[in-house]
Amino acid sequence: MDNMTETMTENMISPINLVLLGSTGSIGRQTLDVVRAMPERFRVLGLAAGRNLDALEAQAQEFTPTYLWSASDDDARVAQIASASGASITPMDEMAQDPDGDVLVVGTAGRAGLEPTLTSLERGGAVALANKEVVVMAGKLVRDAADRGGGELRPVDSEHSAIWQCLWGEAGHEIRRILLTASGGALRHLPADELASVTPEQALDHPTWNMGDKITIDSATLMNKGMETIEAKWLFDVPYERVEIVQHAESIVHSLVEFSDGSVKAQLGYPDMKLPIQLALTYPQRLQPTVEPLDLASVGTLNFSRPDLDRYPCLKLAQQAGRAGGTYPAVMAAADEVAVEAFLDRRIGFTEIADFVHQAMDAHHNTADPGIDEIDAADAWARGFTTGRIAATV
Ligand code: MG
Repeated sequence: MDNMTETMTENMISPINLVLLGSTGSIGRQTLDVVRAMPERFRVLGLAAGRNLDALEAQAQEFTPTYLWSASDDDARVAQIASASGASITPMDEMAQDPDGDVLVVGTAGRAGLEPTLTSLERGGAVALANKEVVVMAGKLVRDAADRGGGELRPVDSEHSAIWQCLWGEAGHEIRRILLTASGGALRHLPADELASVTPEQALDHPTWNMGDKITIDSATLMNKGMETIEAKWLFDVPYERVEIVQHAESIVHSLVEFSDGSVKAQLGYPDMKLPIQLALTYPQRLQPTVEPLDLASVGTLNFSRPDLDRYPCLKLAQQAGRAGGTYPAVMAAADEVAVEAFLDRRIGFTEIADFVHQAMDAHHNTADPGIDEIDAADAWARGFTTGRIAATV
């Protein structure tokens, strides 16, 4: 057997070892759906979750991981779940260090996935990255870790998975534009003067994607699209002026890339996160479908339009933060997290989310080229500042 055949045969018979961070969240649960659909293809080496111990217990029983971790304070219960499934309690960063882990799936929210992502990339591992905050707040550190350690970033965000796929076989060709598609979120048909009185229920009713609460609100404000612009810059090394937003209500075209000759490539599918998740797990292989095959004739019409940028101040704020660089993106992301939480708790109105993010960015003193400590300091400052500002107004 030549080397290539040997590698291919090996890939076909040995399961892909997964370490799954954020296992009880939306991405985590859908990752395990993919594993269930092809149990012979995968082994779950590690499961790390937040505080949903009932869900973690069920997952541990089903997948018997080697490593287990939870953010819960209920140490006794976590120990009992670990011992019942034969797992050892292991911090996420240690799980990421294990060379037996083939793919680290980062489905955590916020800051939590940063160190494990850096660790895995530094040791040359593959990271299936669903947590865009990690790239938004620390894009340069993530890029540098991958370049230094030879690690591989595989995007899970549907738009970036599409761009990634459009770029296969295009190495060395100039990217003229990246066209990021945006559904426009739950409120896209609402007149602008009614946005101020929107309720959390209205904003959470996303037309096409089924996602967690925070990202669904970020989709309604287009903050999510702004963060995805920053994510695209770091994942694909394109300047901000080459990333454009196209409104596309049906969420069938997941994004497009225009090359130097004017040719445009796109990737299509129904809006189902299992498709980009699966590809990030099995790359470079494409395995059996776990999602419904696309029937374009039944979709009928695909619509595209330019978003009304005045309606979406969060998009502009994110683009400004990305261009300014340094600690601005971390401040923007942290202020947004605090403001979205306040909106979900009905402490502030929908349009105030952008106001509070704007205030934090205005008051921030930037640090260029920050390390983790400086990013964390900026993050903590923005949380404190925004919490204080919100408390002062309600
Ligand atoms: Mg997305």
